Amino acid sequence: MPDIYPFLSQRPHKHAAVIVALLLLTSALVISPFISIPLPDIAPFLPVYGTAVVLLESITAYLLLSQFASNRQVFAGFVASAYLFLIPLVTVQLLVFPGVFAPKGLLNAGAQSAVWIWVFWHASFPTLILLALMAQQKLTTQQVAPMQLKYWLWGFVLIPVLCSLALALFATWGSHWLPILIAKNSYKQLLHSPYALLVWGLNALALVCMIRRARSNNVLYTWLSVALLASLIDVTLTLFAGARFSLGWYAARISSSVSSMVLLCALLWEVNRLYVATQRANESLYQQSVKDTLTGLFNRRYLESQLAIHIDHAKRHKEPLCLLVLDVDHFKAFNDQHGHLAGDDCLVAVAKQLEQSLYRPADFIARYGGEEFVVVLPHTDAKDGMQIAERLRLNVSAKKIEYQGQLLSVTISIGCAVLRHSEETAQSLLIAADSALYQAKAAGRNCVKVAVDEPDITPT
Ligand code: GH3
Ligand code: MG
Ligand code: MG
Repeated sequence: MPDIYPFLSQRPHKHAAVIVALLLLTSALVISPFISIPLPDIAPFLPVYGTAVVLLESITAYLLLSQFASNRQVFAGFVASAYLFLIPLVTVQLLVFPGVFAPKGLLNAGAQSAVWIWVFWHASFPTLILLALMAQQKLTTQQVAPMQLKYWLWGFVLIPVLCSLALALFATWGSHWLPILIAKNSYKQLLHSPYALLVWGLNALALVCMIRRARSNNVLYTWLSVALLASLIDVTLTLFAGARFSLGWYAARISSSVSSMVLLCALLWEVNRLYVATQRANESLYQQSVKDTLTGLFNRRYLESQLAIHIDHAKRHKEPLCLLVLDVDHFKAFNDQHGHLAGDDCLVAVAKQLEQSLYRPADFIARYGGEEFVVVLPHTDAKDGMQIAERLRLNVSAKKIEYQGQLLSVTISIGCAVLRHSEETAQSLLIAADSALYQAKAAGRNCVKVAVDEPDITPT
């Protein structure tokens, strides 16, 4: 089965799962000699525990169903069903448990109802997980067809909830048909009945099968193994504690909460990691979409989107804005003489030199295409723009480009234009700077020319 999010590393999950499993086993071993010690009946314990289990299992089932709805992998749907199956059982057990809501429990339950619900609960979870594993192996299709998705979803929700409710109500009203497992809070009869062995065996079998699958480094398998281990410890402690409200009984309930909790924590952890990975991927995709691959400068698309924003801002605040269009002189001849690769290296070196010659954070430079660059200088009038252009020109011509042992150099011509009137657009400003560039080329290259129109936006 493909993993939940296959591009995220599974290693942290594996480590965390091993730590949780070791903690569970150690705690169980440490308390094992004392499990029969009777403790007081803490009245709020069961309602708090039952509510927590129902909530944890509902959220886990919801997340698994959402996962199934998006990847249509049947295994996630079956596991969601296993968690949903427990919700009616846990809820009804809480209602019928003697002493929680009424001395003999609600719903006219019998004395054996709560313990039988416990048996159904702890037998059904591993059985349904085994069923999920079997379905995964035996079903010819691992992924349901999009058209059938909603029927599967309804099936994964309704079938477990209705079956489990029926089972819980049978244990509530039909407990007199069922063998006696508990007498005066003592589980001795349960321990010596075949049901104890059946429940324990199912949990052990599901655990072994899941651990074998977990070798495939899958988050769901890994954490289901921990959940099944916690469930097995819960069953073992409950059975050997021998009575309700003993240390082992309380510890078993805690282990049962861990069983309900681990998969949820792992799913939330994975959702969070996915969120972080998506943020990074978005950032990297954005960078790729606005950067020129050869020079690393912004590309034409970015320039066109940003220039309009800068022009609007400058007009609104009546601030000057200067635009420079730069073109490498005789670049075709440079390519012809030194080769295209030398031309590429030259463009990279020119780009770097231009970048290093701009000092204000608001200024930005883009590769407009070929050997042409555009520099946007916000808050800059024609006089300052000319000075900056001159600095760029001098720095580029002074730059020595190393290529295969030779020191090469190029010059650039620059056309400069400033925001002139309120109708100015990015396109008209680029045209003005471009015509100034042509003047610079006509004037012999390696020089700066400014567009001649009188500006009507004066700096304040
Ligand atoms: P001028 O001084 O009038 O600008 O002359 P020029 O030779 O620079 O201009 P022209 O437009 O004739 O040639 C531009 C050359 O730039 C042609 C093209 O092969 C080269 N060029 C464009 N993009 C790249 C690139 O990414 N790498 C390399 N190596 N060359 C490029
Ligand atoms: Mg050109
Ligand atoms: Mg050129």
